[in-house]
Amino acid sequence: MPTRYLIANWKMQLTDSESLKLTEQISRLLPAVPTTDIRVETVLCPTQTALDVVSGAARDAGISVGAQNVFWEDKGAYTGEISPLNLKDLGCDYCIVGHSERRTFLNESDEMVQRKVAALLRHNINPIICVGETRAEREAGKRDAVIIKQVQAALAEGGSRPTGNQHIIIAYEPVWVIGTGQAVSPTDAAAVHHIIRDMLREMYSVDEVEKNCFVIYGGSVNVTNLSAFLQEDVIEGALVGGASLQADEFIRLAELMST
Ligand code: PEP
Repeated sequence: MPTRYLIANWKMQLTDSESLKLTEQISRLLPAVPTTDIRVETVLCPTQTALDVVSGAARDAGISVGAQNVFWEDKGAYTGEISPLNLKDLGCDYCIVGHSERRTFLNESDEMVQRKVAALLRHNINPIICVGETRAEREAGKRDAVIIKQVQAALAEGGSRPTGNQHIIIAYEPVWVIGTGQAVSPTDAAAVHHIIRDMLREMYSVDEVEKNCFVIYGGSVNVTNLSAFLQEDVIEGALVGGASLQADEFIRLAELMST
C-alpha cells in the first residue's frame, strides 16, 4: 500500500492549550476520513512545550507527533537545547530539521543539520529534512545547486542511512513561497523532487529508497492546490504550515491526501 505524508508544522503559532484543543479536534474528525488504498501518515509538529499533551491526545487517533528541533548530543551542558532522548520520552517519532526559518533566524547550518539527522537516526526518530532555495538563489539560477548541497550535507553524502523501518523524509520547501499563499507550480516542484530522488538512488540501495525514503513538498499548500501536487507521482505528501492550523481545513487535506 503506498504511503503519503501529511505533516503539520505549527511553528510558534499556538499556546499549549490551543495546541491541545486543535489536536483533540483533529483526533475526533480524522477517523471519519474514508480509508482508501493509500495510507496517510499524519504527523503533528507542535511547539516544544506542547509535545507532551499533543502526544497524549493524538495517540489514540493513530496520529504521530514530531518536534520542530533537536540537539545532536544526548546529554551535557547545552543550555536551552533538547536531546533526542527527551523527544523520545515526549512521544516523538519525527523531528523537523533544517527548516528555512531556523536556517535564517538561528543560523542552522548544513553541518548542524547533518549532526541532527545522525542523532535522530541513532535514536530511531524519523527526520523531516527541509531543503529549499531562497528567491535570490532561484533568480541567480542556483536552485538545483542549493538543493543538491543541502541534501548531500544533511545525509552526510549517504553516511547517514536509514535502518529497519526508519523513514527519512525530505521536504522540498522553496523558501520564497513559504507562508505567502503562492505555491510553486506542481511541475516545478516535481522537477526538484526528481533531482532529490536521483540523489537518494546514488546514496542508498533501491530497496532503501523505496522503503525508507520519502520526498514531499512544502510551501503554501492548501485545500485548493494539494491535489495538483499529488498528480505528480514523485510528490509523496506535504509539509503544511498555515493550512494546518484549522481542524476543518487540515481534515480536508487528509481527505485529499488519501484520494
Ligand atoms: C512551512 O513553514 O513549513 C510551511 C510549509 O508553511 P506554509 O504552508 O504556511 O507555507
